[in-house]
Amino acid sequence: MTTAAYTLPRERGIYYGGGWHPSKGGVVTPVHSPATGELLTTINEATAEDVDAAVAAAREGYRVWRDVAPKERARIMREMVRVIRANLEELALIDAADCGNPVDEMRRDVEMSAGLIEMFAGFWSEMKGSSVPFGPDMLSFSVREPYGVVARIAPFNHPFVFSIGRLGAPLAAGNAVIVKPPEQAPLSALRGMELLDGLLPKGVLNMLPGGRDFGAALTAHPGVDFVAVTGSVPTGKAVMRAASDRLKRTMLELGGKNALLAYPDSDPDKVAQAMVRGMNFTWCGQSCGSTSRAFVHEDIYDAVLERVPTYAARFKPGLPTDPETTMGCLVSKSQHDRVLGYIAKAKAEGARLICGGKQPDAPELANGFFIEPTVFADVTQEMAIAREEIFGPVLSVFKWNDESQVMADINSVDYGLTFAVFTRDVAVAHRAVARAEAGFCWINEVSKHAIGSAFGGYKQSGIGREECLAELLTYTQEKNVYINLEG
Ligand code: NAD
Repeated sequence: MTTAAYTLPRERGIYYGGGWHPSKGGVVTPVHSPATGELLTTINEATAEDVDAAVAAAREGYRVWRDVAPKERARIMREMVRVIRANLEELALIDAADCGNPVDEMRRDVEMSAGLIEMFAGFWSEMKGSSVPFGPDMLSFSVREPYGVVARIAPFNHPFVFSIGRLGAPLAAGNAVIVKPPEQAPLSALRGMELLDGLLPKGVLNMLPGGRDFGAALTAHPGVDFVAVTGSVPTGKAVMRAASDRLKRTMLELGGKNALLAYPDSDPDKVAQAMVRGMNFTWCGQSCGSTSRAFVHEDIYDAVLERVPTYAARFKPGLPTDPETTMGCLVSKSQHDRVLGYIAKAKAEGARLICGGKQPDAPELANGFFIEPTVFADVTQEMAIAREEIFGPVLSVFKWNDESQVMADINSVDYGLTFAVFTRDVAVAHRAVARAEAGFCWINEVSKHAIGSAFGGYKQSGIGREECLAELLTYTQEKNVYINLEG
């Protein structure tokens, strides 16, 4: 793999106010491939000293953008969609090289990003208010207005989707946006910014890669009105605490420790396949929605477990930039160490390893953060892998025989993002879904998003809903107007 294969971002600055600027803090950071260790490039990182200038530029942009007619905003956003689609291959390849997910999967990420912006452009006429009938002498009606400047803070697992794909709702609503791409994989967002440069009025879209301290400074800045973060629960709490000082609005899409529940009437083969698909092994389990806890009824437990290794073996770790690769690597050494730590702990606590559990042997993968698809059976509630979000390719399988106990176990974690149930009995499926404390549920399905349908968490998995009309409305505030028409 050589860097010549990619078009890396050409600019070395941070982007705000319609132009590239040097970072005031002067921090230059190397960006390495997590698959090979190769130096991809160096970037300038924004620091707390850059926040004032970026926010001032975004406030200028907001004053222009809020007055652009929503239909015209939608036209410009469709132009963004055209540019993203025209550069899909290049953006997917950069993401694969930088974050370690397979390029084939990253193509879908880029297309999903384009599709999301396109959907919100199409929703422009849905930012409706309401009116109340009071007779001919008075009118009371409401309109929806943007908040101002939105900080959009992204995690590493789908860098392009969370940095660029999530622009649709805040922009359609008339806000200016400051994006902080993930520090582990900032390159696709920076290249995306280069490609989108000039389409929007100056200051409307701003792209500042930086670390946690920069994210914290951005969140706390008085000129930022709304903070949207996709990330871990501790980050969500830190953002909420910082935002509380000025009662800023927040949208929090956080972690998950999601359950798949298989009833005894379900087909063991389909359950085994679903358990593997639900783990999103292709991006190393680094997905908030992964069903990383599988609760399988004792009547089908052995039959399911017998089949799981065959399906897991279809995910073979390989170089992420190779189009044939079915499973990539973890994003960083710290993430790799963390996952290996959980595997060691699971063994020590008595879980039964049925496949994976180690780095692959292939010599070309020796310098990367790879781990084989890993499945532990006979997991019990006290074990760390039963309760903590690993965010790696590790599936925990539990045996159950009592419905009310299994639902209590499923709901016993603080997370509540997704839930999947497998049964042929629709009444049983509905009963399980009704009891599940999770924001997005599947019946006889796993992993899939349904764009237009609300995605978001119960409990500590987050606040707010994305990928749907509610996301657009969240970026608006309602203003009521009372008119006296007498005389
Ligand atoms: P993270 O919480 O470590 O970081 C996320 C982003 O927040 C990064 O850009 C980081 O720099 C920034 N950040 C960290 N501390 C901050 C602070 N105090 N103030 C402002 N910004 C701060 O998460 P990660 O490791 O990048 O991503 C993995 C996590 O994201 C997992 O928990 C996963 O479940 C979650 N996630 C959730 C969803 C969802 O839709 N619910 C989607 C993807 C990932």
